[in-house]
Amino acid sequence: MTSADHLERVALIDPAAIRRNVETIAGYVRPAKVMVAVKADGYGHGAVTAARAAVQGGADWIGVAHLAEAFALRDAGIEAPLLAWLHTPASDFAEAVRRGVDIGISGWELEPVAEVAERMQTPVHVHFKIDTGLGRNGCTAAEWPGLMARAAQLQERGLISVVGIFTHFAVADEPDRRETDEQLEVFRWALQAAEEAGVRPALRHAANTPAALSRPDAHFDMVRVGVGVYGQSPFADRTPAELGLQPAMELRTRVAGVKTVPAGQGISYGLTHRVDRPTALGLIPMGYGDGVPRIAVDAPVRIGGRVYRSVGRVAMDQFVVDLEDPETAVQPGDEVVLFGGDSGLSAADWGAAAQTINYEIITRIGARVPRVVLDPDADVDTDVAAAPGGTAEAGA
Ligand SMILES: *Cc1c(COP(=O)(O)O)cnc(C)c1O
Repeated sequence: MTSADHLERVALIDPAAIRRNVETIAGYVRPAKVMVAVKADGYGHGAVTAARAAVQGGADWIGVAHLAEAFALRDAGIEAPLLAWLHTPASDFAEAVRRGVDIGISGWELEPVAEVAERMQTPVHVHFKIDTGLGRNGCTAAEWPGLMARAAQLQERGLISVVGIFTHFAVADEPDRRETDEQLEVFRWALQAAEEAGVRPALRHAANTPAALSRPDAHFDMVRVGVGVYGQSPFADRTPAELGLQPAMELRTRVAGVKTVPAGQGISYGLTHRVDRPTALGLIPMGYGDGVPRIAVDAPVRIGGRVYRSVGRVAMDQFVVDLEDPETAVQPGDEVVLFGGDSGLSAADWGAAAQTINYEIITRIGARVPRVVLDPDADVDTDVAAAPGGTAEAGA
């Protein structure tokens, strides 16, 4: 028995897995440092849970997209160095300075950051981002020398301290593609241009999980890893186990209904599926309101010793699996695992069923699903993490 047994829907989060995954990745990349990305609520695992476990596993830095995410970590007592890299002119850079959060800069942010530094009479810690080919955030190569010249001036005046220079890869999950080599070449040029301008950061960082695991030449001073820390493989053709990683989320529920139906029975909205023989259907009480993608077809669940497949459309609260036998032994209340744990099913399997990737599956598990955080040191639950409206469910 665990404290999750009374919950009708639960995402079991294993901080020990997160800790071990960080240790494993750190082992691959040493002597490079490790920044663990806990954006988007720790890819759905809980940002604070993930950050704590990551630090225990030896993470040197924590990374997030938004300053608001960084402030929430500080509020929760996370003291590790923090970097946030995605801002708008409404972002509160002064608060970032007060909370000790480093600021990623792609261009326009530099002048408002310098103003904050002037007002607060303190150098702001920044990491400059170069767009080496992803075409998303980051300074273009054309603008980079100008940005570095300005950075050198502000550094000279004591308004900024350049902690890092970084970039982000577009296709590192496909290790054979040469665009990663091209991006690395631009990155090396950008570092050289920075140096020539007099900007010498302590931390050059580029690699995400796939590059950390497949490109030692991209490790530089630090890697920034997310998905691997949660025990998910970033590669289409490699399992987490093959990479020495262990999934940190198990998504569970219980059978809400079982019924025998005749051949021809249509299933769920749109009647996109009809059974072609008498069978039994199992009702699974999770839907897109819980982050189970509506688009998923033929998606797997494990009930007892067997894997069954979804049929018909996923609805807001529920979906249906074909139990493949009118005389099925499956009963209401039986445990259902969608992925993780000992199920042999992965978030990647759900990604394949829903035309997406494991990243999106884990990250979008909804607030209606309570997170139960396993004890970091044992297989005993300690803490039902707060999920809005999600912790007070009756027993199944
Ligand atoms: C999310 C993110 C990462 C981590 O990527 P993974 O593929 O999950 O390892 C690294 N760097 C940046 C800038 C990111 O946005």
